[in-house]
Amino acid sequence: MKSNKMRPESLMMTHGYKPELSEGSVKPPLFLTSTFAFKTAEEGKAFFELAYGLREKDQAEELGLIYSRINNPNLEILEERLCLWDKADQCAVFESGMSAISTVLLEFLKPGDLLVYSMPVYGGTNHFINHVLKDLGIHTIGFSPKHSESEIIELIENSGKKDKLSMIYVETPANPTNDLIDIEMCKTIGNKFEKEDQQVFLAVDNTYMGPLWSSPLSHGADLVLYSATKYIGGHSDLIAGAVLGNSEVMQRVKVLRTFLGNMPSPHTCWLLMRSLETLKVRMEQQARNAQEVANFLKEHPKVKNLNYLGFLDKSSKNYEVFKRQYTSNGAMISFEVEGKESDAFRFLNHLKLVKLAVSLGGTESLIQLPASMTHIGLDPALKQQIGITESLVRLSIGIEHHEDLIADIEQALSVV
Ligand SMILES: *Cc1c(COP(=O)(O)O)cnc(C)c1O
Repeated sequence: MKSNKMRPESLMMTHGYKPELSEGSVKPPLFLTSTFAFKTAEEGKAFFELAYGLREKDQAEELGLIYSRINNPNLEILEERLCLWDKADQCAVFESGMSAISTVLLEFLKPGDLLVYSMPVYGGTNHFINHVLKDLGIHTIGFSPKHSESEIIELIENSGKKDKLSMIYVETPANPTNDLIDIEMCKTIGNKFEKEDQQVFLAVDNTYMGPLWSSPLSHGADLVLYSATKYIGGHSDLIAGAVLGNSEVMQRVKVLRTFLGNMPSPHTCWLLMRSLETLKVRMEQQARNAQEVANFLKEHPKVKNLNYLGFLDKSSKNYEVFKRQYTSNGAMISFEVEGKESDAFRFLNHLKLVKLAVSLGGTESLIQLPASMTHIGLDPALKQQIGITESLVRLSIGIEHHEDLIADIEQALSVV
C-alpha cells in the first residue's frame, strides 16, 4: 500500500520523520536550536532564495533548514502531519490562533480593500477586523447566517466598494450557536466579484468543528484556519494556530510569518505532535459524549433553545448545508437555562466536574456564559439577533464518562 493511501490516523505517529536522521530515535527529538549549519555557502544561498520567495522551487528541491524563525524540524514535521487531515498542499503553524488569523488578513488585504465576513466571528477576530483593519483603511461588511446568497450580494453591491472585494472570511459552525455558513455559496459570491486584477480569497475558520469531520478546502475555501489551542492541541495546555491551503497562497502566508516572527517554539510543535497522535480517538469520544449529553438536555424542563448539530430540523436549509459540509455532530453544545442571568450563574456555580472556563476542545468538559464572557464585547443588537441571550451557556464536551457529566449537569440544574 502506498503511504498516501493510508488514513491520516495511521500516519500521525510517523509521517514526515526519518528516525535515521536522529540516532534511530522512534519519536522526533525536541530540536532546541536557533540556527542550522549549511554544508556549503552555495547551499545557504539557495535556501534563502526559497525562504524569501525570490524564486520558484525546482521540481525536486526542498527548502533546507536555516534558522528556527523560518523552519525547524519540529515545525516542519508538525506541518506535514496537519496537511493530512485537511488534504492540503501546505500548512503554516503559528504561536496562536489569533496570529494565524491576523497574518492571513494582513497578507490578503490592502488599504482600500473590502472584507466580507460572517457574524458572529471569534471575539479576537471581530476586534482585529473592526479596529486594526479599520484603522488600516480596510472596509468591512458583516453578514449573518440568516442572510441569503442574494442578500449578501446586495450588501456588497450597495457598499460602493464591490470592485475592491478581496476576501470573504467565515467561521462555521458559528460560536456559540452552531449556526452554519454555506462555504460553496461563499465561493460562488466571491467568483461573482472576481476580476482579472482582483482575486477574491475565501478563508474559513474551522476551529469549532475541528479538522476530522469537515474539509473546507474541498468545498472551495482557499485557506482554512485553526486555533490549534482547541481540538488539535486538545489538552488545554498550549496556545497555537494553523493555516492550510495550496502552495501558492501558503507561500505568501509563510513569507509574512517569517517577517512577523509569529511561529511557535519547537516545544509547542513537539506538544502538538503528541496531541495529533490521539486527535481522532479524543474527538470521537467527545462527539459520542456530546450526543449523550444532548439527549439528556433535550428532555430537561429547565433547558430551552438547545443548539446541537444532531438536532437540526431535517427540512431546513441548515440541515442541507450540514449534510454537505460535515460528517459528525461535533462536541459543542449551547442552550438556555430557564430564567435570567442569575439563574444561569447559579447553574454554573454548582457544577463540580464540568469546569467554568472559556476555551473549548480539550479533554476536560468546559462551560461558560458567552453573553457575560467570550461575547461580552459584542453589539447588544447583534447578540439579540443571533440568539446570544443572558442565559445561553456554551458547553464543550470532553472525554469523561458521559454518565458522570450528565449527573453533574443534572444536580446543578436542580438548584436553578
Ligand atoms: C480560540 C479561537 C480563536 C483564537 O485562537 P487563540 O489560539 O486563542 O489565539 C479563533 N477562532 C476560534 C473559532 C476560536 O475558538
